[in-house]
Amino acid sequence: MMRKIWFLQRLPLVVRQMKSQSYLYGDFQWQVSVLLPTYRNFAKTYTNPDTEDNKIIPPCRFTQQKTNNMRVRLLFFIFFFGIQLFGQNKQVCISFDDLPVVNYGISDSCYQIDLFNKLVKSLKTFEIPAIGFVNEKKLYNNGNIIQYQVGLLQSWVNNGLDLGNHTFSHPDYNKVSFSEYTSDIIKGETITKEILAKSGKTLKYFRHPFLHVGNTKIKEDSLSNFLDNRGYIIVPVTIDNEDYLFALAYKRAIQEKDSILSKQIGHDYVEYMEKKIRYYEMQANKLFGRNINQILLIHASLLNSDYIDSLVNIYQKNGYVFVSIDVALEDSVYKSNITVYGNWGISWIDKWALSAGKKGNFFIDDPETPNYIKKLAE
Ligand SMILES: [Zn+2]
Repeated sequence: MMRKIWFLQRLPLVVRQMKSQSYLYGDFQWQVSVLLPTYRNFAKTYTNPDTEDNKIIPPCRFTQQKTNNMRVRLLFFIFFFGIQLFGQNKQVCISFDDLPVVNYGISDSCYQIDLFNKLVKSLKTFEIPAIGFVNEKKLYNNGNIIQYQVGLLQSWVNNGLDLGNHTFSHPDYNKVSFSEYTSDIIKGETITKEILAKSGKTLKYFRHPFLHVGNTKIKEDSLSNFLDNRGYIIVPVTIDNEDYLFALAYKRAIQEKDSILSKQIGHDYVEYMEKKIRYYEMQANKLFGRNINQILLIHASLLNSDYIDSLVNIYQKNGYVFVSIDVALEDSVYKSNITVYGNWGISWIDKWALSAGKKGNFFIDDPETPNYIKKLAE
């Protein structure tokens, strides 16, 4: 009974989503154009499976055939709407920042290689077309290239994953000049470009460190023009979160060999990340009347290496499929204007909301990082 009510409550939303999203409308048309003739043929055959001429229906079987027809219609209805109901329309791109590895001071190569390989293995197993944003400074030690770090990026690309530029040394655009910042972007291209070129790919995506895009319109415009002229596409974040605080707390618990605490952190992290999915989905619905192609930001940390499977699980549970960044960016929402600027590094959903004049109450219910995590990460 509860499921029936849930189904009926959700139906208007599903129909609205199908109508409001142009790409979904495409899916909708596909479903009608492909499934409807299939249904008709099936129903036609099923109407009278025992006779060669489907036009002849023996009178004694008419009632039975009518019942069968109803069943076919019901099955078709469930299948047709089930595609929408059970989440084929939800898409997320997972993006990792600060590649190759966020090591929090652990320079041991085995530690970093194991962490990285475990992450890549999971992404491959679940066929997740993730993108990772590189800080090439991490590939050097006293001016010398660290070969195994380059090898990690090579392995990332060899496994079908994409790379983007996250600047050379992770500067804060709110604190450095335009020329310093753009020089750092150019410096951060060299090795990533070479690695991508070996797979016939080009370096075309950029992610701002700290999500700081420019705290004034002039500063933002000048950087956007620079990136555009250099052939970059800016990659926004919609599902923003504080995974880095959990990651630091987790790494400290692991170092202390406190397995009870590390498991508690992992558990609370996954729970927090699920709340974040629901929160940003709700915000997108409030702002645009529909969900959008989401872009998740997480970091290449030990925590995410250990818990990527659980994260994948919660996204699947919430009806998401994993898409590449170019597919995610096909959503027309990414053409929405941003007209307000600040020192913040926040979700693009929040920026669009602020630009639309939303205030205070609009942003309530954003899941908080637990206090004990903040304390552990101090
Ligand atoms: Zn970063």
